Amino acid sequence: MMNESQGQNNHTTETVATHPSRKSEVARLQIARLTVESGLSLEDIFEATAQVTLEYLGTARVGIWLLNESRTLLKCVELREESGSQSSGAVLQLADYPAYIGALRNRKVVSAEMAQHDPLTAELLESYLKPLGITSLLDAPIYVAGEVIGVLCAEHTQNAREWSTEERDLIASMSDLLAGKIRASEVQQLRNFLELSADRIMMMEKSDALARMAFEIAHDFRNILTVVMNCAQTIGLPNTDTESMKRLIIDAAGRGSKLVKELSEFGKSEPEQSVVLNIGVELQSTLVLLQSAVGSGYKMDLQIEKPLGKILMDKNQFQRLLLNLVLNAKEAMPHGGTIDLRTIIRKKGTRDKPNWIAIEVRDHGCGMDEATMKRIFEPFFTTKENGTGLGMPIVRRIVDRAGGDIEVESQHGAGTTIRVVLPLIAH
Ligand code: ADP
Ligand code: MG
Repeated sequence: MMNESQGQNNHTTETVATHPSRKSEVARLQIARLTVESGLSLEDIFEATAQVTLEYLGTARVGIWLLNESRTLLKCVELREESGSQSSGAVLQLADYPAYIGALRNRKVVSAEMAQHDPLTAELLESYLKPLGITSLLDAPIYVAGEVIGVLCAEHTQNAREWSTEERDLIASMSDLLAGKIRASEVQQLRNFLELSADRIMMMEKSDALARMAFEIAHDFRNILTVVMNCAQTIGLPNTDTESMKRLIIDAAGRGSKLVKELSEFGKSEPEQSVVLNIGVELQSTLVLLQSAVGSGYKMDLQIEKPLGKILMDKNQFQRLLLNLVLNAKEAMPHGGTIDLRTIIRKKGTRDKPNWIAIEVRDHGCGMDEATMKRIFEPFFTTKENGTGLGMPIVRRIVDRAGGDIEVESQHGAGTTIRVVLPLIAH
């Protein structure tokens, strides 16, 4: 890219001498190529535009002036002189030059061969033209969104000078280019601001979520500790059923340790180790664990669709995922029942080989209404007396890390199906 455009540059520069009409095109191109999107600052672009315009017109000075917010001042942001010197910062009060400002608002180009006598520019005489020895002016307003926001000025000294059509065209198109760059820089600034705001909002949301989580944990633990303290204080008093107090304490402590266990599982930042797992082998061996977790009141029905494949996942996480789903299925059927566990092969895209596997856990229990279904992945959301609300968030996290997806189907009173869809890495 770079070489190509440099090549073009060289080519056009060479032909300038023989084709003077191309000279303005080269000048325009030089500025058109400078963009704020490529990391140039507006100051860099102002500098280059003033320089190129100065060289093209051969004037003593070229300046770029911008209006302030309240449109009361014109401030010089770039001034280039023939001698090579450069400055900025000068300020003109708009109120002092009504005819000149009016002309800028009404014309594409303000050209004054005899600037000191021209009715449009004569008001600049004492304060500006005379002290600087300016005889002729060629100024083009800079329009952004239909409004004059500044002016590009070429200032000639010595003998008065007539401006050619090409010169007028050039300064007009230079000011149009400047307008485009100023607009682009505004857009860029706005974009940066929006990005910054989005980051800030995300941070706020995160700390909100953290605060909610801390509150929930504190609440759960306070309840547990209250039970333990009340029971401990009653033990030893006359007429106290020590045995049942003891059971309450053990029960509360059990809930506490379950909460701690799930919390630390939830907070774990890295999966232990992703390895290639053969789904069939893994499901068979996990089945034993699942059956013992749900107890004899429940039947686990495993149906596997062949050919099975291999997934990339941490072995413990795979088991924990299934355990969480199966325990929820069990808890949805307090009087026992069958939990269906099946695999379904999925083909996505045009290839004939399956590339996803769905592992489905289905119960025939209480089901969920829509409002509950929307919240099941929310940390600490639970509808159970002894629930922690961390099971499904853990499932979500494990599946997210494996690059998979979760589908939930449920109806109040009609059971629940949860499908975990995982990418296959081999067949
Ligand atoms: P917990 O089981 O501790 O309540 P989970 O995160 O595992 O926490 O589940 C959150 C909630 O989602 C449950 O309280 C329940 O309301 C709902 N839920 C999850 N799985 C099922 C299911 N199989 N049947 C009915 N409700 C379910
Ligand atoms: Mg659960």
